[in-house]
Amino acid sequence: MAQKGKVIILVAPSGSGKTTLARMLFEDFEDLKFSVSATTRQPREGEQNGVHYHFLTNEEFEKKINSGDFLEWEEFYGGKKYGTLRSEVDKKLNSGYFVLLDIEVKGAVNVKEIYGDECLSLFIKPPSIEILKQRLTDRGTEDNETLSLRLERAKEELTYADRFDQVIINDDLETAYQEVKSAVVKFMNQN
Ligand code: ADP
Ligand code: 5GP
Repeated sequence: MAQKGKVIILVAPSGSGKTTLARMLFEDFEDLKFSVSATTRQPREGEQNGVHYHFLTNEEFEKKINSGDFLEWEEFYGGKKYGTLRSEVDKKLNSGYFVLLDIEVKGAVNVKEIYGDECLSLFIKPPSIEILKQRLTDRGTEDNETLSLRLERAKEELTYADRFDQVIINDDLETAYQEVKSAVVKFMNQN
């Protein structure tokens, strides 16, 4: 592969199904690579450093901010930082791959501004806040405090939906996936 690849962003409030939909995309598209973000939050059970995230201390993260290593970064959920590393995105784009970013709303707005038409941004919406709460509870990764922080943030993030290229409601997973897939196929085939 020689030509430069393009960026695809799945953006949504936490718990809306981005990770689930991203996994399905990786099974279908071998030219699609994941941009591994950096974060200062603790790894969840089963998460591997360098695979799901680059898990950094606050000091390490600050150093990277100061060196200009991030394309974008944000701080939320009571002081946890998350950021997209330029090196992650550039090396994959330069090898001709499509790069998938799983990031939150404000970071996604910034990345969309940087890449413009070279970027497809899909906003994944939960059917309702109640269902979002249920899914986050069932996922079992949050305590009461982080669950309510995530839900509070989700309400605000939902107001940004129309800033993105397409809004997809993740009610039935297979239906949502087919919508995501057809948007991705169309984008990949555009010059
Ligand atoms: P995110 O990456 O946006 O935080 P996840 O992909 O982890 O969200 O999904 C949150 C939880 O909801 C997971 O436990 C996942 O299995 C479940 N989930 C995702 N999509 C659906 C769906 N359409 N119907 C029911 N459960 C879903
Ligand atoms: P989680 O803690 O559930 O893995 O992620 C919390 C939120 O942070 C999710 O909405 C996820 O998409 C977002 N996120 C992950 N990586 C990045 C990143 O590099 N930049 C930004 N802005 N958000 C990120």
